Amino acid sequence: MIKSHETINVLGFHTSILSREDILKAVTRWVTDRKNSNHLMALNPIKVCRARKEELLAQHIVNADLLYPDAYGIAWAMTQFSGTKYPTIPGCDLMCDIMKLASKNKNSVFLLGGSQAIVEKAKVLFQREYPGAAIVGIRNGYFKNDDDMQSTLSDIMTIKPDIVFVAMGALIQENWIEMIRTKARQQSLVIPVCMGVGGSFDAITGNVPRPPAWMLRLHLEWLFRLFQQPFRAPRMLALPQFALLVLAKKIFKIDTDYHFPATRHGDDPAMRSELSTQQAEV
Ligand code: UDP
Repeated sequence: MIKSHETINVLGFHTSILSREDILKAVTRWVTDRKNSNHLMALNPIKVCRARKEELLAQHIVNADLLYPDAYGIAWAMTQFSGTKYPTIPGCDLMCDIMKLASKNKNSVFLLGGSQAIVEKAKVLFQREYPGAAIVGIRNGYFKNDDDMQSTLSDIMTIKPDIVFVAMGALIQENWIEMIRTKARQQSLVIPVCMGVGGSFDAITGNVPRPPAWMLRLHLEWLFRLFQQPFRAPRMLALPQFALLVLAKKIFKIDTDYHFPATRHGDDPAMRSELSTQQAEV
């Protein structure tokens, strides 16, 4: 996690106040310095509410090197807690910005996730739009067994890309990023940028349409998604729940932050993670 003065606490998760441009500068530095395998992570209200019930996801969130507000709800909460207005940084747009940067700096990129057809289409699109970037590997996001996963991990370690985009659903992609970072550490390698991009390969290839600009302006992306993919309805119940938790904290000063359950030894994984990453620089 980046230093606390550069973040705002959103229900226990320290979200970066960096602008899109500054995140790109951080990414450039990560690739140039090659000190760590960094996790650039999108935060949205659905992920926050899910993490409150699934400790592993919460652990991934606090272990991320940079958390950015991918959805309006998070930017709104940051504004509620700080009094300063922050823009939403859509993950799909940030991914394209990073590709532009990768093209300029001739970086190598590995695409992991989505169906085979979609990841192939994403590769073609990236090669056309960002010709300076080298797409050094692709792999769909569906695995037969553990051996299949291990073989993909080995491929990534052999290729050593500068950037890995992991396009899977929440938690699956964060588990993958954790595996990539752990494997890299074990082999004294660095994969400088690991970014979970969810359904972004589907979005850029047109497999799942993106909301029109006017809906984005009115922060109605969730409504568009609901019409497109009604199976998402249950998880959207997290949106009012998130808003209530934010307002309860702000107005009634109730501690609605997420706290890790104390372990038998009384140590708090969030605190442990905070301490171990205090030296981390963006
Ligand atoms: N996906 C995948 N492997 C899986 C599950 C999902 O590659 O085991 C892909 C899926 O094909 C889709 C992408 O993950 O392209 C995003 O899924 P979803 O829209 O559920 O993610 P969200 O953006 O909502 O987190």
